[in-house]
Amino acid sequence: MSATTSRIPLHFQILIGIIVGVALGLAAGTFAGGQELITNWVKPVGDIFIRLLKLIAVPLIFVSLTKGISDLKDLSTLSRMGVRTIAWYLATTVFAVLLGLLLVNFFEPGAFVSAETIAGLQANMPAGIEGKVAVGTSNAAGGPLDFFVRMVPQNLFAALSENGSLLQVIFFTIFFSICLLLVPAAQQEPIKKLIDALNTVLLKMVDVIILISPYAVVALMAALFAETSDAGIIKALISYALVLLLGMAIMLAIYPLLVRFYAGMPMMTFIRGILPAQLVALSTSSSMATLPVTMDCLEENLGIENEVVSFVCPVGATINMDATSLMQAIATVFVCQVLGHDLSWSDQLIIVLTATLASIGAAGAPSAGIVMLVIVLESVGFPSENLPLGLAMILAVDRPLDMCRTVVNISGDSCVAVLVNNSMRE
Ligand code: ASP
Repeated sequence: MSATTSRIPLHFQILIGIIVGVALGLAAGTFAGGQELITNWVKPVGDIFIRLLKLIAVPLIFVSLTKGISDLKDLSTLSRMGVRTIAWYLATTVFAVLLGLLLVNFFEPGAFVSAETIAGLQANMPAGIEGKVAVGTSNAAGGPLDFFVRMVPQNLFAALSENGSLLQVIFFTIFFSICLLLVPAAQQEPIKKLIDALNTVLLKMVDVIILISPYAVVALMAALFAETSDAGIIKALISYALVLLLGMAIMLAIYPLLVRFYAGMPMMTFIRGILPAQLVALSTSSSMATLPVTMDCLEENLGIENEVVSFVCPVGATINMDATSLMQAIATVFVCQVLGHDLSWSDQLIIVLTATLASIGAAGAPSAGIVMLVIVLESVGFPSENLPLGLAMILAVDRPLDMCRTVVNISGDSCVAVLVNNSMRE
């Protein structure tokens, strides 16, 4: 990684940061006022880090995607890259859903949840659960082509100013860059020069932000571990968490195999190359916030072409979430198992479709997948009066699982970047 001047590799620095943060958080929980101390004086460092990453994400997408597309020789290269990217994204997402269904039907984690756990959850519904159900329900309300309609911004500045509108920014940027390629070379030149220069500055900004990442993860982990979490409820729902973790471990093992067999990249090179981004994903729980680091790792550590990284990664951070789709499948069947809602084979097929679409529609933000779960549950006729309870069950153990999901999500994007890069070279 270009930013580090220290001799300790960045991933070790971040790993040490995570360990120190966990220790600090646990220690803070042991004395009075410790939690406030962390919240007031340590957590803000982590918050600033996440804000900086998000700050840089939108300009970085615009500039580097424009540069990537305008550096292409012709538009057919763009369409080839687009088709391959979407095909891999779809294939890995559908695979994740199928894997999820296989695991949840085989292990039946719902059978391990006791009636007391359900009664306890019902008595202590987390605040804001109704709001989450309402957001999920309203997301589901649109027509089948709504996703594409919402991809087209009505106002560029509104899209740029809203972190949830990344897809709109990507749409505008691709449209702008294609038209840039269509105008005479003399008009292209000044814009290309400006974009080149801006790209260099933005990449320098990413390097500087990454420099503080080892300290930021100390803060993020300390804040997380200082919060008191209910160990009892985690234990009660451990069967669900374990099945999901198993699914995610399988996905994480598949990516290096794919890059080995389809792109000839040694598995360890891939794993070591993306490790810093994985650790940042673990600490931030947000693919979108991790995006600048993912792009940096792929270019600097794995030598992936700028054109590929700048297209595949932003698109992936918004639409490709393998672990989120895996979770939708497992969580849906799990909730139905616990609350006695029978699922037929055709229901399971519906889950393949809706979980895939829900993960495409989910934003790369903390717990974004939970909201989309409402859509998948509704699609299999889950009774709406039980939706808050179903969601509360998943939400109760979601924080650590969300962190792991984000790691898998950005690993999936990185894997596809390597595969597309290789096939474009061929
Ligand atoms: N936090 C995940 C991400 O940003 C999304 C989710 O599954 O909730 O990739």
